[in-house]
Amino acid sequence: MHLPIYLDNHATTRCDPRVVEAMLPYFSEHFGNASSVTHAFGWRARDALEAALGTIAAALGADARDLWLTSGATEANNLALFGAARARRGRAAHIVTCTTEHPSILDSCRALEKEEVRVSVLPVNRAGLVSPDAVAAAIESDTVLVSIAHANAEIGVLQPIAEIAELTRARGVPLHTDATQSLGKVQVDVAALGVDLLSCSAHKLYGPKGIGALFVRRRPRVPLVPILYGGGSERDLRSGTAPVALAVGFARACEIAVDELEPEGLRVGGLRDRLLERLSSELPSIRRNGEAENVLPGNLNLCFEGVEGEALLLGLPELALSSGSACSSSRREPSHVLRALGLGRERALSSIRFGLGRFNTAEEIEFAADRIVEQVQRLRSVSPLWDDRRA
Ligand code: PMP
Repeated sequence: MHLPIYLDNHATTRCDPRVVEAMLPYFSEHFGNASSVTHAFGWRARDALEAALGTIAAALGADARDLWLTSGATEANNLALFGAARARRGRAAHIVTCTTEHPSILDSCRALEKEEVRVSVLPVNRAGLVSPDAVAAAIESDTVLVSIAHANAEIGVLQPIAEIAELTRARGVPLHTDATQSLGKVQVDVAALGVDLLSCSAHKLYGPKGIGALFVRRRPRVPLVPILYGGGSERDLRSGTAPVALAVGFARACEIAVDELEPEGLRVGGLRDRLLERLSSELPSIRRNGEAENVLPGNLNLCFEGVEGEALLLGLPELALSSGSACSSSRREPSHVLRALGLGRERALSSIRFGLGRFNTAEEIEFAADRIVEQVQRLRSVSPLWDDRRA
């Protein structure tokens, strides 16, 4: 067993060695530009890129012609939101989203508000779920997009996307979902979900960092304008030299995830359940944030009453964990997701996110549970927040 143990798989995942192996020839051997049409280097790169797009699209149940490679999900989310709002070319526009979205959605919405786009940010219930009826009720005559994540990055809950899609479709409004956390962990199929736009990112499914994709349905086509220019054609929704090696890696990661989806989900879910069972049987007053049902197999978000999350993380240098999303964990503010569930500041700051993944072993989970129990007991014994009578 190697220390520290990585339990932060929502932040990023280890690139699978099989993915690295697939990518390697495309750095210094087949290094051509896929847009070079006059020589064999370009043709080789173009072939690899097209095959990769086909594989990634197949993992989403999509057509490769509906897929646009981006630098990651942040860019894909920006493209979906800015692209849809700006396609109105100055006319009134309105977007519907919810409070627990990733900052790449919420911050984009804030920036769009400065461009006179109106935004409705819907609440979630204690489980973290948005109500499909509330989404339908929020739609206005100039709504250009509804954007609701498939799985939440902190509490792992899966939103009722297919149900929401029925309602948005009936109103003729495009639905975008951020499937960054769900792709490769649970079934993600654009037809079954009924979405018009979908964002994803390779580094969350054991692929390389720096590549993601936006699925854009062609029929009926979602009106989108680019946010990057430089491709020389109106059809180029995303300009820039295609990162062929990364695309090959993304494709290999998708292939492995699709092949291993079920057994891996069962195995990782089993490890997560074992961790929860040990912690809840050996420690009083711990609560799970979010849902137990309908949650990503590797996710566990726990509130350790009477313990400051930051202090717990500092006491556990052998474990790589976080108190929330990597994008906000440097801010030392309580997570906006946990606050949206109705948790008070103290409870939110006493919460830790566990992200289990492909490379975790049963031995690691037992070790992690031993160390967490020991540290929580130690911190509670000296904490003014902890009252022994609660135990
Ligand atoms: N959406 C969600 C739900 C995420 O978890 C993340 C990564 N933290 C992103 C978007 C951004 O992805 P990327 O790192 O590929 O920009």
